[in-house]
Amino acid sequence: MDIQTMTSRLYRLYAQNRLGHAYILAGSAMATCMAAASSVLASLFCAAHGPGGEPCATCADCRSLASGNHMGVAWLQPDGASLKIAQMRAAMRQDTRLISGVSLQAVVLEQAHKLTQEAANAVLKWVEEPGEQRLFLFLTTSPASMLTTLRSRCMLLRVEGASLERGVVDPAALWAPLQSAGDSKRFAESVELVLELGRHCANGELRAWHLAFDRIAKMNYSADEMSAFVDALAAYFRDLAAMACGSQPAVFADLATSLEDEAARRPVADFARYAAVTASVRRRFPSHVNAAAALESLVITLGDM
Ligand SMILES: [Zn+2]
Repeated sequence: MDIQTMTSRLYRLYAQNRLGHAYILAGSAMATCMAAASSVLASLFCAAHGPGGEPCATCADCRSLASGNHMGVAWLQPDGASLKIAQMRAAMRQDTRLISGVSLQAVVLEQAHKLTQEAANAVLKWVEEPGEQRLFLFLTTSPASMLTTLRSRCMLLRVEGASLERGVVDPAALWAPLQSAGDSKRFAESVELVLELGRHCANGELRAWHLAFDRIAKMNYSADEMSAFVDALAAYFRDLAAMACGSQPAVFADLATSLEDEAARRPVADFARYAAVTASVRRRFPSHVNAAAALESLVITLGDM
């Protein structure tokens, strides 16, 4: 299923108090699994989500999730070639589920197929511990390589990041609304603004994004153009995530060489989070009266991370 379907499904289960406590999110690319996990966590933790769990992207929870330091989330990455038992023990000690104000404790294991045998056994005990308000998300491109006993305790969800993987996104369709005016200069400026805004957000260059935002305001985008602009911004972050994973960019393929430095500047999880936050704001666009204001608050959130 796609990321949005998975997010709303898990959100619904959570809202009905029927959420399981351990899921394997399996996909063909780690960036897809990470974007899915970010999206799910945002919908579960957001304090001002929409009726279907759509995160607001601006509340304190959304912002701390986006910057990777939410109290309720332990996000573990392989230390070198594997996820090690010392990391599991450290994370178990820091389990903050009892800290007041945190209603749910989420533990995300990136590349869960890289758990060492000992680490997997430790996690297995942790998963089996009673504790209703704990959620494990095991991210893997190879569920078959996970310890069988651990795998059997989890629900397996297959996530397709159609738009995250090369060849599935149709850049022409993505750009079409911004080209419909038939003004090639205006289109070129839009592409340039997407790149500029994305770069400023990723680098936290606050003054610079103000200038870019002034130029965006002057474009007087229609609602369709504004939606396409934000789609392109999400695609830009997804491309950086793909490049940081060693894959090819899907939409900004022509700029692959010039984006290399940028992709190397941050960990892939950051770009995956930017993409997830941007996509979640984009999904709420139809309900926003003022798309430009929505874009501005998105940019402030991203620029603050
Ligand atoms: Zn929120």
